[in-house]
Amino acid sequence: MKKVVKFGGSSLADAEQFKKVKNIILADETRAYVVPSAPGKRYDGDIKITDLLYECYGLASEGKNFYEPFQAIKDRYNGIIQDLNINLSLNEEFSVIEDSLLHNPQRDYTASRGEFLNGRIMAEFLGREFIDAKDVIFFDEAGNYDHAKTIPVLRSRLENCESAVIPGFYGTDINGNIKTFSRGGSDITGSIVASACNAGVYENWTDVSGLLMADPKIVSSPAVISSITYKELRELAYMGASVMHEDAIFPVKKAGIPINIKNTNRPEDAGTWIVENTAKRSNYTITGISGRKDFCSITISKDLMHSEVGFCRKVIQCFEESGIALEHIPSGIDSITVIVQENKFIEHEQQILSKIAKTVSPETLEVESGIALIAVVGRGMRAQSGTAAKIFTALANARVNVRMIDQGASELNIIVGVASEDFERAVRSIYHIFVDNGH
Ligand code: ASP
Repeated sequence: MKKVVKFGGSSLADAEQFKKVKNIILADETRAYVVPSAPGKRYDGDIKITDLLYECYGLASEGKNFYEPFQAIKDRYNGIIQDLNINLSLNEEFSVIEDSLLHNPQRDYTASRGEFLNGRIMAEFLGREFIDAKDVIFFDEAGNYDHAKTIPVLRSRLENCESAVIPGFYGTDINGNIKTFSRGGSDITGSIVASACNAGVYENWTDVSGLLMADPKIVSSPAVISSITYKELRELAYMGASVMHEDAIFPVKKAGIPINIKNTNRPEDAGTWIVENTAKRSNYTITGISGRKDFCSITISKDLMHSEVGFCRKVIQCFEESGIALEHIPSGIDSITVIVQENKFIEHEQQILSKIAKTVSPETLEVESGIALIAVVGRGMRAQSGTAAKIFTALANARVNVRMIDQGASELNIIVGVASEDFERAVRSIYHIFVDNGH
């Protein structure tokens, strides 16, 4: 069984971090394929290499001098090489990049060099083969990642190579040019490599000991989630929990490979397991809480609406025609409420409202903004009675007025809508009623 290990930017920010990473890799001989990001921030206020590269590109594309950020990039890599005491010079690569910036600046190519150069250093430091991602990861005509094309090429390349370093974040488009994933995309590369070699585990190394049950900016020192299913993760991530790149789930999920989120600075911590299914119970009834502000609700009321066939469809169509996705549609006997993202709705507001007025002739049409949605997620909720009661007790005790309730049919989540100003208080109260009471 092989493991694919991806290390994020903060895990590779300087030579000290590189040494930790090497120890981690050498501690387990199944850690065969290494996917590095570009060096991240070393301290608050530091600049990530990728951001410096984008800055170079921005300046170069306007014909401006990019000496300063480019020098900062070279100094950063040279510093790492020197402190690691390895026999490698990247001077030739630096001049190729400089040349391209001077004569034909390309955004994705420039950005990808952060991972490319870091991969070169990592391969030298570990004494492992370097596989350039441009030769094994492909994008299609529409610019999307091409799984069907990538997997056979990457798989046969890995079959000939016991262990290797493959830089994250980029591949090649149909014209042979370098193309990157969106920001944070090294997570996707790691997932693709894991899928291609049918890894036993995809380890994603970062600077936290796993996913937290709630946003640490809201709840102080939230507990780590020890195991979570892909479905639960999707619910939490959609509502704002920041985890890995969202698109990184798909390749490993498809191949049935679990992800283990680990902390480079505390490798002894178990981290979080992200799996398709598990018999393991979470430590608490709920797995996690996340939420987002800035939704608004549009409530359409009309007497006898309930018996008017096609009423809901007509309302929904008014939003669809303006390209607005609906988050939730709680309904009553004679009213239906549509919850949407405020910024998207506002752009088309008057158009949608007048369409609704024309198509269904409502008695009242109310718009309310400043709504926050909170998702309480957990596979354990299905088997446990009283979960909803507990949530509402917590909210009542915290004097939070509940504006909307929605429980998914999967019983994997309960969504509550509250006023934006009550959001943080509401999240804290729900967290504490489940976690501090130990249930
Ligand atoms: N270096 C890229 C970024 O900063 C990709 C990554 O780190 O995953 O977005």
